Amino acid sequence: MVSVVADGECRWRIEPAGAMRVPGVVFATAGLLPDAPGDQALQQVADVATLPGIVEASYAMPDVHWGYGFPIGGVAATDPAQGGVISPGGVGFDISCGVRLHTSTVTRADAAPHVGRLMDLLGAATPRGMGRGGVLPAVQPAELDEILLGGSAYTVERGFGDPGDLAFCEDGGAVAGADPGALSARALARGKGQVGSLGSGNHFLEVQAVDRIYDERVAGALGLRPDLLCVMIHCGSRGLGHQICSDHVRVMLSAMERYGIRVPDPQLACAPVTSPEGRRYLAAMAAAANYGRANRQLLTHAVRRCFRNAGLGEVRLLYDVSHNLAKLERHMVDGAARELCVHRKGATRAFPPGHPDLPDPIRAVGQPVLVPGSMGTASYVLVGVTDGRAFHSACHGAGRTLSRHAAVRQAPVEAVRRELAAAGVLVRGASERGLTEEAPEAYKDVDEVVHTCRRARLADPVARLVPVGVVKG
Ligand code: 5GP
Ligand code: MN
Ligand code: MN
Repeated sequence: MVSVVADGECRWRIEPAGAMRVPGVVFATAGLLPDAPGDQALQQVADVATLPGIVEASYAMPDVHWGYGFPIGGVAATDPAQGGVISPGGVGFDISCGVRLHTSTVTRADAAPHVGRLMDLLGAATPRGMGRGGVLPAVQPAELDEILLGGSAYTVERGFGDPGDLAFCEDGGAVAGADPGALSARALARGKGQVGSLGSGNHFLEVQAVDRIYDERVAGALGLRPDLLCVMIHCGSRGLGHQICSDHVRVMLSAMERYGIRVPDPQLACAPVTSPEGRRYLAAMAAAANYGRANRQLLTHAVRRCFRNAGLGEVRLLYDVSHNLAKLERHMVDGAARELCVHRKGATRAFPPGHPDLPDPIRAVGQPVLVPGSMGTASYVLVGVTDGRAFHSACHGAGRTLSRHAAVRQAPVEAVRRELAAAGVLVRGASERGLTEEAPEAYKDVDEVVHTCRRARLADPVARLVPVGVVKG
């Protein structure tokens, strides 16, 4: 068992030992530290610290839990100029999985008589589940290429959204450097029938209401006010992203020896950022990221139609941000600016106020950080802070305390349904497995996670949202 020592406000340190090149740093309260018998999350934080070229520390957010290679909630930056590596396990299988939040023009009270019908419409308009079918019917190869290159920007061009949406998408809606040619035939085949779909279980489309405001100035700038009805979408790059991760883990496993790289866990397979394998993964990852963003934009389009049909007016995109991605970013390390490859896996970028990459209306207040909690508890909007730690990163959710398997054993589906009904949350389209695996009991206390982000100086809370109705995968 890896040991941690207290190291300041909501901060724990894993001292470098063995092949670790930097310390591990976990942002958490004592209660949020993963400590179940056999849980490997802290060992994973230590293992990530062995990666070539890693800078500062191997970080973990307060929602950290056990993942594939990297922990979910892990942040690690490597320096390509110092042999720094890129690891597909540091991005995860659901490449560019992320969240977008929309505001409406109605309050929860005004919408109340129409919410049942709204949820019926949203349930019917949201392709979901493991299988095929999306807002766009099976797309042709040429169009799939456009999606992989253009992301949300391409779908908006096609009429699925307002041009104004793109300013509120990370990267303007499309990651540069995507190469559809870097995808296997299998990845393309898995992608073509799922464009504009939610996916399974943990992914959702949720109608929420603003329950509490922590910072009126920032909330006002983001268009959030008490009782306002909002819509949150959480989904990613479906089978296409999954296949890309599998394909490139395999390639890197066989390339590592050539680069003299040894890792303590094959799930940390990696290659130098500047190597042919590293570049090819980055090009494929960007393509999957664009697929994920197009996916979310198409669901926004469906949401807008449903709001209009329910007589509930217009819907505006507040922000769209990924929580599974590696990005080349400039950061100050020991007083010097360096170009780093920042892996965020189950962690959200949290740029501070004034950051040049933020669009005009948001730049003054900082980047919105969108944090879903669970279908039965709260979700949050935070913003990045000037003194932000971990390369300006924050949590991405509440984080699991129970594995999917354990959740199914502990939360019978009828109990979950009763709990949600008692909380007044309308549920549409959830599979039995989705309901039990994602039961609120399976997750940490999101309020504690978010306030730990504030205390640890990762991001500051702006507003708390509560669920009104959820369409579950
Ligand atoms: P992940 O990307 O790790 O699958 O999920 C991100 C977070 O979403 C989880 O840590 C959990 O806190 C949250 N979450 C899962 N299901 C739901 C849901 O139905 N509604 C909301 N609001 N949050 C959810
Ligand atoms: Mn996902
Ligand atoms: Mn996700």
